[in-house]
Amino acid sequence: MTAKTQLPSQLQIPTALSGLADLASNLWWTWDPDARSLMAGLDPARWDEVKHNPVALLIDMEPSRLEALAADDEFLARVERIVTRFRVAMQPDPDHELAGKTVAYFCAEFGIHESMPIYSGGLGILAGDHLKSASDLGLPLVAVGMAYKFGYFHQLVDVTGRQTEHYLANDYQRLPAVRQCNGDEEPIILEIAYPGRTVRAQIWKVMVGRVALYLLDTDLPENNEEDRMITGHLYGGNEDTRIRQEILLGVGGLRALEAVGINPDVCHLNEGHSAFLSVEQIRRAVSRHGLSFTEAVAESCASNVFTTHTPVAAGNDAFSSDHVREYLKCILEGSGVDLDQLMALGQDRPDDANSRFGMTVLALHTTRFANGVSELHGKVARFMWHHLWPEADEDDIPIAHVTNGVHMASWIAPDLDLCYREHLTEDGLDISDAAFWNLHQGLRRRLVDTVRNKLAAQRRRHGASAEAVAAAASLLDPEALTIGFARRFAPYKRATLLLRDRDRLAALLGNTDRPLQILMAGKAHPMNEPGKALMQEIWRVSQDPMFAGRIQLVEGYNIALARFLVQGVDVWLNTPRRPLEASGTSGMKAAANGAPNLSISDGWWVEGFEGGNGWVIGDGREYDTPEAQDAEDVESLFTLLEKEVVPTFYDRGSDGVPRKWVKIMRAAVAGVIPEFSTARMVNDYTEDFYGPTARRD
Ligand SMILES: *Cc1c(COP(=O)(O)O)cnc(C)c1O
Repeated sequence: MTAKTQLPSQLQIPTALSGLADLASNLWWTWDPDARSLMAGLDPARWDEVKHNPVALLIDMEPSRLEALAADDEFLARVERIVTRFRVAMQPDPDHELAGKTVAYFCAEFGIHESMPIYSGGLGILAGDHLKSASDLGLPLVAVGMAYKFGYFHQLVDVTGRQTEHYLANDYQRLPAVRQCNGDEEPIILEIAYPGRTVRAQIWKVMVGRVALYLLDTDLPENNEEDRMITGHLYGGNEDTRIRQEILLGVGGLRALEAVGINPDVCHLNEGHSAFLSVEQIRRAVSRHGLSFTEAVAESCASNVFTTHTPVAAGNDAFSSDHVREYLKCILEGSGVDLDQLMALGQDRPDDANSRFGMTVLALHTTRFANGVSELHGKVARFMWHHLWPEADEDDIPIAHVTNGVHMASWIAPDLDLCYREHLTEDGLDISDAAFWNLHQGLRRRLVDTVRNKLAAQRRRHGASAEAVAAAASLLDPEALTIGFARRFAPYKRATLLLRDRDRLAALLGNTDRPLQILMAGKAHPMNEPGKALMQEIWRVSQDPMFAGRIQLVEGYNIALARFLVQGVDVWLNTPRRPLEASGTSGMKAAANGAPNLSISDGWWVEGFEGGNGWVIGDGREYDTPEAQDAEDVESLFTLLEKEVVPTFYDRGSDGVPRKWVKIMRAAVAGVIPEFSTARMVNDYTEDFYGPTARRD
């Protein structure tokens, strides 16, 4: 938290532009509307090409162009105005209730901006939004993650509708990242004992406003090829890769903080991937401070907070116990910690010889506070992990909940943001229906335009005829009721629920008086065949004349596309199989932009639905069989679309404004801001968990 910005080493530009270099070197610009438009305007022709990364743009910029900017007084004055605000925003807050303490936040992925692709989906975006709000609020927080060389993957869809995965190498020297060095300006190299060898890692520091994010990187020539790829792919590889990554994140992460001089008062394990950090805490307490094993576990617990993010089994890592033992043996070598006792902390059912080693189990056993991410998910998690506290009543299981949120400034369209800043009061949005509606119409038209361009580019890549490429420009209708559905293609999310009744769907999409169109996007994990098959099914429907081109699958779901979608659609659709959606956050982003949710009563929507701010599909209960649940939900979904959503949207006044609809939009906005913001969420974590933990109350 120093005032002076460290610059990426290759970023060398004229002194007159040093303020610009400072701005580019801190991801704060990504959520400041003026800074964002400044960066996007530096070289509009190359902006997309550099994937919205101003550091790369400036490194590549012709010296003559840089000199021209350095001599442009108007430009310099604009930079100066933003830099002045930036410097103020970067000052540490001495009045924060945790001033002087440090919270360290560990996560396997961070979705901060599309220019830094080290995220997969909801978990990472939540982590990114957490850091931004921590910065806004002045919470003294640092974060730890991994500098993936290839991140997750870039998605394309081929001419048969199949997802193809593309891996582009991240070059950290061209990102706002600074390699951490010791006092002699030598890179800090961490050493971690793995079976039969030592793995080495360097550390990159990325500034997210006031928050420092430290990313571990094993892509060093000192490591063997396999170990260099420990930080190769997010959620790639096999069980062994995952264990190696998680050892690095937990054990290496804590060592990285120590190496840069940070001794956290609180460690927040955001999901179980980082839970091995408690092994390192226990090791230190025993070997450095001579504590007994029990005392060491208690000390580890006293500093840790854990958030579990999903009831779905695949999201709760569990490894072969023998396999984990091999690794932990090396970490604990010579420490005096008993390996069997340590292993027992991760055993789901200690009396079962085949019991796997669970990262959620380890986390629950080594943290003082644990929580799920919505009220319903808290309850589901208490039920799910009840067996770890067999003596306790389910309601007394020590898993609370903090409902997720989103970082509003990152997700609200800039025009709307301006409008809210001026006109959003406790009583709602103080502008006319027509003005609000027109703003929204503009955003929908922009979305349709963006999607048309993407579809044209895709057709070109598929080798389509010139006519077919040109025809993409008239696909979809910029004035039609537009439903958005974008999320991972995990089967429980039921992306194809809408396709279960094709005649009713065709009738809705083909209605020329009251047209409806649907935009779908999302990724399937590369190994998830059923998920890829779902995508392909949607693709086939999108090509079927029966649906009149009114349903489109948009490839390449990422933060940038998500922004267009949540800002431009009229309705956000969510169809998880209750109660498997722990929270969901995309619906919050849409609501903040005035798009009501049409969703199963699951995750955040159980709390978010207020009657007039959207619709609930189904009757919010659980069913005996998934088939029964699906059938009921399909019926409810179509009835809502036919009887409520479509008629209300097309019920227009003489001026063309849908008054009843705008009322729902207003309620959607008022209901979600500020209740489902990460500002509220980070404050909840601070009040309920970080504060008591940091103070050892
Ligand atoms: C918000 C977001 C998510 C998470 O949304 P869910 O509602 O949890 O599916 C995933 N990916 C991207 C790119 C997002 O912006």
